[in-house]
Amino acid sequence: MVIGILGAGQLARMLALAGKPLGLKFIFLDPTPIACAADLGTHLIGDYTDKALLTQLAEESDIITYEFENVPVEIIDFLNQKTAVYPPAKALLIGQDRITEKNFLQDLGIATAHFADVSSLEELQQAMPDIGYPAILKTRRFGYDGKGQVILNSDQDLDQAWQAIKNAPCVVESFVPFDREVSIIASRSVSGEVTYYPLSENTHHKGILRLAKNTHNDPLQAQAESYINTIMKALDYVGTIALELFAVGDKLIANEFAPRVHNSGHWTIEGSETSQFENHLRAIMDMPLGSTNSLGYAAMQNFIGNVPASEKLLSLTQVHLHLYDKAARKGRKLAHATARTNSLENFTDLINSLTELAKQSDDS
Ligand code: AMP
Repeated sequence: MVIGILGAGQLARMLALAGKPLGLKFIFLDPTPIACAADLGTHLIGDYTDKALLTQLAEESDIITYEFENVPVEIIDFLNQKTAVYPPAKALLIGQDRITEKNFLQDLGIATAHFADVSSLEELQQAMPDIGYPAILKTRRFGYDGKGQVILNSDQDLDQAWQAIKNAPCVVESFVPFDREVSIIASRSVSGEVTYYPLSENTHHKGILRLAKNTHNDPLQAQAESYINTIMKALDYVGTIALELFAVGDKLIANEFAPRVHNSGHWTIEGSETSQFENHLRAIMDMPLGSTNSLGYAAMQNFIGNVPASEKLLSLTQVHLHLYDKAARKGRKLAHATARTNSLENFTDLINSLTELAKQSDDS
């Protein structure tokens, strides 16, 4: 079976690596001539809107999926005429706009930060008495990893923030005083079989995920599963999905969902019986989903801008290194390492070592 993927970055690469043992072949469409998934399949080099290449992708694939959420919905509709595309376009349509997404979540009874839709400096000024400080101004579309976001601490910040955001339509939302940031990852197959991973506990810095670790019997697991299940049903979802959440006391507040495999689930490659990548492929092929049980304690550390020497990382014998084969560039996610062990004490030591090595090489 041939799986077509829009995008040939690290997520596509990890999908292909998970699919090879299942006998799958891959074809990628990505405009970047040197893309990091390219050597794992056929690489069609060209724009995502190139009709001839999209037709070729649809003709040569049995099923199509994507690795990023900014795929224009018209492209999914075009491909769908020939070949099934999962996750469904509805997930993209809602997830691509922060206001639509927040309204969708609230309509499903899922709590979000208090927010307002603002399209001008005047609207922002009018919204602030109700939203309160501190707050975050985010562009409605095309924001990721903290890009297109400004923190607002007082009325004095508004002018400059609005200039920084370049007049783009925005959501302004109250800053959630969270105890923890967590995410739930789940997979749903074409026939509706569903499986959930244990909550991932996530640490961000400058809006970018740095460390993600699995939890064990987290008291908020059931609430997170109920949220993501409600979302998947409402979207007729097929594939792996991630929901990022703020934990405040015994409550969860949804930040955003990603209709794809997710960085906070990379620890599932070594830390779970079946990874998020393999379950995504099983889900879109309508195969039985694999167990999401954790294999001990597992954590993932991202390496951004630079990667510590492989010798140093691999001298930690319970650490597994994933180099994405990408050219180093400031602020770019280049690699991650997973620590997995059965000893909690050992786990803490491994995380400390990985975090220290990441800090030494990080340039963001
Ligand atoms: P996002 O691009 O929405 O995923 O935001 C990136 C990161 O910024 C989140 O993971 C949080 O660490 C932080 N953040 C975003 N929105 C809020 C909020 N309303 N309250 C507190 N922290 C936030």
